[in-house]
Amino acid sequence: MSGVMAMPVATLRATATTPVVAGIGHVAQPVPASAPSSSVPLTAVAASAAALGAVGAATQRRGRRQAQRASLAQGRVTKGRTLRGAKLVLCAGASFPEGRKLRVAVVGGGPAGASCADQLAKDGVETFLIERKMDNCKPCGGAIPLCMIDEFDLPKDIVDRQVRKMTMISPTNKEVQIGQTLKDDEFIGMVRREVLDDFLRQRAKKNGATLINGLFIGMSLPQNKGDSYLLTYNDYEGQEGNARKGETKTLEVDVVIGADGANSRVAKDIEAGDYEYAIAFQERMTIPDDKMEYYKDRAEMYVGEDVSPDFYAWVFPKCDHVAVGTGTVVDKKGIKLYQQGIRDRAAPRIEGGKIIRVEAHPIPEHPRPWRVKDRSILVGDAAGYVTKCSGEGIYFAAKSGRMCAETIVKNSQQGARMIDEADLMEHLREWDGKYGPTYLVLDLLQKVFYTSDAARESFVELCEEEYVQKVTFDSYLYKTVQGNDPVGDLKLGWKTLSSLYKFNNQKTPDPMRTLA
Ligand SMILES: Cc1cc2nc3c(=O)[nH]c(=O)nc-3n(C[C@H](O)[C@H](O)[C@H](O)COP(=O)(O)OP(=O)(O)OC[C@H]3O[C@@H](n4cnc5c(N)ncnc54)[C@H](O)[C@@H]3O)c2cc1C
Repeated sequence: MSGVMAMPVATLRATATTPVVAGIGHVAQPVPASAPSSSVPLTAVAASAAALGAVGAATQRRGRRQAQRASLAQGRVTKGRTLRGAKLVLCAGASFPEGRKLRVAVVGGGPAGASCADQLAKDGVETFLIERKMDNCKPCGGAIPLCMIDEFDLPKDIVDRQVRKMTMISPTNKEVQIGQTLKDDEFIGMVRREVLDDFLRQRAKKNGATLINGLFIGMSLPQNKGDSYLLTYNDYEGQEGNARKGETKTLEVDVVIGADGANSRVAKDIEAGDYEYAIAFQERMTIPDDKMEYYKDRAEMYVGEDVSPDFYAWVFPKCDHVAVGTGTVVDKKGIKLYQQGIRDRAAPRIEGGKIIRVEAHPIPEHPRPWRVKDRSILVGDAAGYVTKCSGEGIYFAAKSGRMCAETIVKNSQQGARMIDEADLMEHLREWDGKYGPTYLVLDLLQKVFYTSDAARESFVELCEEEYVQKVTFDSYLYKTVQGNDPVGDLKLGWKTLSSLYKFNNQKTPDPMRTLA
């Protein structure tokens, strides 16, 4: 936890004449001047601020915070200063008055926001979760790793399909089955996002989060240390359909979490900077029963210049249909051409299919330049936590939301104390330490294997190796970078180089095969 931000005395004087806005709850509420909840801490904060003076060197922060806490405990009053009617301004580390908790707004109710709000509310923080569309169906393949089911305590029936067979298909249609090392109880889960997200949101509500059906429009940032954020949103409560207008409302909070996805409005408001993104396109189709039978426990990944210049295309099974899609960073304008490419390649297996939904959405390529500013922080896609190579983001969104909440809970002592930027930065350090290597490895793999058809051919060939399959699946299913067999790693390194050499020096590429 970071050091105390002592409030300059001059600021306290200035705020003493402003209206009271020490409200608890999501709309600013006037508090009676005699309310004990505001008077004691206000005088205490003033006393500690006066005693502590201006902000000093970082090394002295801890001592200052202790001094502030001591003065808070004693309830000292600064002589001659009138604080009745003053705005409640709390510095980092200071306790909230009786009945008041740290107020956190989580914007966006996808896996990142819902998991974050759930953890915060469960652990005693006053939490508001703002989601614009409660039945949102996020464009997504819906593949989740096995570890997410246990870790996030998901009901078994949230998984529509248990994928145990994964087929990699090379530019020449060479097929490699890569699920062979899976144990009987291991699988990739396929979920519908409208179902998963709703489950996570409702659980957050059950655990105490206030769920707001509203569109976050913007916020005013704190002008002084300890000031609140004032969020503006269109409240859609009781309204349905695309024509709904909503009622404009405000929400005053201490901390803002941007979990509003790749087009994050919170990121814009805090000037978090832009990131490079891929555009992903997906068509959901119903296919004849005999064709669906083939996909009942199988997912396919196609690579080749025809389906994407820098990513892969997929056919993923859903409850009663398949999702057929592709993505690219380097040629976003060509996305429809690549979609036609995957349709053509998978044609024998999806023939007779009827498109029931077409969707497209950006996928972040790397984290934003700033993920924390003051007391606001980004998680999930808003922060940029999708892995390269696999394009996976659901687990990382939920995990970043939860980890961020845990840091806030710890540093605010279950919502009893104010936090600051340094407290939130602690989450970034933990996150980067834990998952940095995973992002790095997958980034390298994408750079080596997704840039030419020769490299892609060699990638698929390598996937035949049992060791590669084991490492790949264990890393994906359990979210750890595997590879504790130095001999296996050496052999694999050698094989990779010779395979890349072979395909890069082939005079004429292998002819295209026909899919069975
Ligand atoms: C086509 C495609 C396929 C993909 N396939 C997979 C896959 O198979 N597996 C995988 O792991 N990942 C996949 N991903 C990535 C994955 O979808 C994301 O990483 C994941 O959804 C991130 O979750 P999130 O909670 O951060 O953001 P989101 O899921 O985008 O959630 C953001 C939420 O915020 C809400 N919101 C946005 N703006 C506002 C606002 N102003 N006010 C209020 N609410 C707002 C939205 O309605 C939404 O509910 C895919 C992505 C795409 C585009």
